Amino acid sequence: CGIVGYIGERDSKEILLKGLERLEYRGYDSAGIAVRNGEGITVFKEKGRIAELRGAVNGDVTGNTGIGHTRWATHGKPSQVNAHPHQNTSDRFTIVHNGVIENYHHLQRDHLADVAMESDTDTEIIVQLIGKFVEVDGMTTQEAFSKALKLMKGSYAIALLDAEEAQTIFVAKNKSPLLVGLGEDFNVIASDAMAMLQVTDQFVELMDKEIVIVRKDSVEILTLEGEKVERAPFTAEIDM
Ligand code: GLU
Repeated sequence: CGIVGYIGERDSKEILLKGLERLEYRGYDSAGIAVRNGEGITVFKEKGRIAELRGAVNGDVTGNTGIGHTRWATHGKPSQVNAHPHQNTSDRFTIVHNGVIENYHHLQRDHLADVAMESDTDTEIIVQLIGKFVEVDGMTTQEAFSKALKLMKGSYAIALLDAEEAQTIFVAKNKSPLLVGLGEDFNVIASDAMAMLQVTDQFVELMDKEIVIVRKDSVEILTLEGEKVERAPFTAEIDM
């Protein structure tokens, strides 16, 4: 299973699909991407191989921001509905997640009793939770993301898109790998540097429970308390 993301000037689809192909070795049962353009966020997802996903992607839909996912099902059977990305009820928020949210049932009971779930995944709880914190409780997306991260127990690598904040991918990890890759006029994310060596060899390591704001020309790393963290990139040296 794995995660990729791109934010920049180019159409993200091919970069995401190539990245997911490079993560195939990690094993998966389904795959999906979400791309964002001026009209909003479009999700493509399929059970099965990346080739299946490629076939389902509409080449006419472009987006210079995008996230992608290969799923190894832990909660809910492998299916198109359970494949990532997942969206909250209003479709404002879109998420991909690797890992397991151990307390998802409690989070659902305590915060989302009145929300109808579309999938059987623990992941949908996260995106519905963030949606509720923003749309009902009036938090900013960053506040909602950081509150959700504080409440969640388990392992995760997460990338989140907000339809109303086009220029940002929100990222976090805990006990699951995730890196940010740096480019000239773009930035990327990936579970493994190998997935993005196609576009850069400069990567920044992320630590558990940081909140990372990735834009096409900046990467901001914060603690969950909102303090800035400085971290120098490293050069990935892997033979392709
Ligand atoms: N727990 C999530 C699910 O079952 C993510 C699994 C993964 O790491 O791919 O959908």
